Amino acid sequence: MLVEGKIALVTGAAQGIGRAIALCLAGEGADVIISDVNEEKAREVAAEVESLGRRSLSVIVDVTDDEEIGKAVTKSLDKFNRIDILVNNAGITKDAILVRMKRSQWDDVISTNLTGVFNWMKACAKPMMKEKSGRIVNISSIIGLVGNTGQANYAASKAGILGLTKSAAKELAPWHINVNAVAPGFIATQMTEKLPEEIKKKMLSNIPLCRWGEPEEVARVVLFLVSEMSSYITGQVISVDGGMVM
Ligand code: NDP
Repeated sequence: MLVEGKIALVTGAAQGIGRAIALCLAGEGADVIISDVNEEKAREVAAEVESLGRRSLSVIVDVTDDEEIGKAVTKSLDKFNRIDILVNNAGITKDAILVRMKRSQWDDVISTNLTGVFNWMKACAKPMMKEKSGRIVNISSIIGLVGNTGQANYAASKAGILGLTKSAAKELAPWHINVNAVAPGFIATQMTEKLPEEIKKKMLSNIPLCRWGEPEEVARVVLFLVSEMSSYITGQVISVDGGMVM
């Protein structure tokens, strides 16, 4: 049990990578707060956490709403007293080539993927500083490292997460709070399912391990980063991409 007795909060945990992270942490002994905008699916994942013998709570909050995040943190602290682990996973895509990208597509992706991470880190840093310990993992993307045609908004948001992660790692280190990022490649979830077959084929030809990643393969790296196994690692970015970026 790598995170026994820890209290974890995962955003975007109702499905895909976030769900896999929540269940992986619960399987290793953590109580998990499930945060998402999808109430029904979030409650289902919370029930799955409980079926693993752990406590859970679902908090239905949009990551762009800092007031509601404040209330969700208070609700979580009322139930669990601490938040030891924060995983910022919620994210969206709204693709278009730069010259056709609407301002609303840019704003939506930046406010969900980047400002959302800022909102949750700001809200959870104080209770973590009080405990003089904590772990934060932010889910970026390899697109934030190398860019992608049709994803200027997404790439900018995911690159922004890396700067935010490194700055927070430096600021929070004196309180023994480690802050790291994970950069997945192409992982089989609903987000990638909707891509056109042609793009999927092209992507696959660029993956040295010759297959898509599974959400659980990202979850296990997050588990490492929130466990004592990684106690001397902070401000780092770990790619989980089958060798796409090397
Ligand atoms: P999914 O779309 O499958 O799941 C994302 C979850 O986040 C959904 O439950 C979604 O709810 C929720 N969500 C969306 N917007 C908000 C919001 N404003 N506030 C709270 N919750 C929200 O995505 P994945 O599991 O594939 O991706 C998870 C993370 O991993 C994302 O940050 C993504 O960018 C990143 N990533 C994914 C890769 C992949 O190949 N899948 C590759 C690299 C990075 P709803 O569906 O109801 O909107």
